[in-house]
Amino acid sequence: MVKKDIQGRGITDKKVLDVMGKMPRHLFVDERLKNSAYEDYPLPIDEDQTISQPYVVALMTEVLRLKPSDRVLEIGTGSGYQAAILAEIVKEVYTIEIRKKLAEKAEKRLKEMGYKNVKVKYGDGYFGWEEYALFDAIIITAAANHIPPPLIKQLKEGGRMVIPLGSTVYSQTLILATKIKGEINLEEITSVRFVPMIGEVEKAVK
Ligand code: SAH
Repeated sequence: MVKKDIQGRGITDKKVLDVMGKMPRHLFVDERLKNSAYEDYPLPIDEDQTISQPYVVALMTEVLRLKPSDRVLEIGTGSGYQAAILAEIVKEVYTIEIRKKLAEKAEKRLKEMGYKNVKVKYGDGYFGWEEYALFDAIIITAAANHIPPPLIKQLKEGGRMVIPLGSTVYSQTLILATKIKGEINLEEITSVRFVPMIGEVEKAVK
């Protein structure tokens, strides 16, 4: 899968390729889906949510240009797969999930897998995680129609954020936002399809 679908589609970061290649994705899905775990597409997890397509996980990780010393915030823990990928690359991962059952399951799974550098929180990621800010990078793995302002505040100067932006349920644009001199610069990466971000983001019309 990594050779054909990830390297084959243009991911070149060696660390990202290595980690994608060794991560046991089958541990993040239900027993009945294990046979599909190494196909390059999203799969259902509980509560009508999905574990992202491996290529998209690799792409979002690559564009953040992570360093081993980085502290990263993820919004949308889901299965914990993306968090585990990040945890192999950076020093600390903070991840927030709004659905309690998913947050608890992912926390247990990541603990069992031995990740000591990941903290999972049950809550609305719109507000970020003030206690541990600032972050070197922020990754949002649910679709939003605007960038939550608290996340911009919690991003370090020079920091990078990746987010699927757009209002339609069919597709969004994956955006790389870089904070330069306090201003946010946006760059379009590609078209993606994510499950919607819920909670405060739906009320805060921007
Ligand atoms: N990164 C995940 C896949 C994410 S699916 C993985 O690797 O498996 C998107 C997740 O975002 C869902 O689990 C959904 O419940 C969660 N989510 C939606 N709105 C959220 C919010 N406001 N804060 C935190 N999580 C949210």
